[in-house]
Amino acid sequence: MDDEKARMAARNALTAFLEGKRLRKTPERYAILEKALSLRAHFDIMALYRAMEEDAYHVSRATIYNTMELLVECGLVRKHQFGNRHAQYELLHDAANHHHLMCTECGRIKEVKDTELIKYMNSRRYPSFSTQYFSLYVYGICSRCARRMRSAAVDKNNK
Ligand SMILES: [Zn+2]
Ligand SMILES: [Zn+2]
Repeated sequence: MDDEKARMAARNALTAFLEGKRLRKTPERYAILEKALSLRAHFDIMALYRAMEEDAYHVSRATIYNTMELLVECGLVRKHQFGNRHAQYELLHDAANHHHLMCTECGRIKEVKDTELIKYMNSRRYPSFSTQYFSLYVYGICSRCARRMRSAAVDKNNK
């Protein structure tokens, strides 16, 4: 899907969602959606706020937060809680094809594509439950932290 088509599809999805919920179709909500679509990878409320300020589009952080919650509810955006950091958001069409490796030492997130696993998960059916989506986090130690921990251990032994 090219960007323009994706943008229109997202706007239409938001319109249908707001109408269904009898919520107001404010220009702010669409502006926030547009900005979110332009950001790559994961972003938090502050990053989105700053990006809007750069465009001289003034909207409160509370409005951004509330709008992001609506976008999550309408399925355009996925919300991640990586450890105890601020919630991170990413677009669903980006989120659907990867999962996240999270370093428990430094908190860095690495995205990995694993089409076999995704195919498998999408084929799973559970009794008395209809799956909407799944989200997978793998926790461990990144290579940078592993190296740092190894050299710290060596230093200790040499003392
Ligand atoms: Zn991601
Ligand atoms: Zn790390």
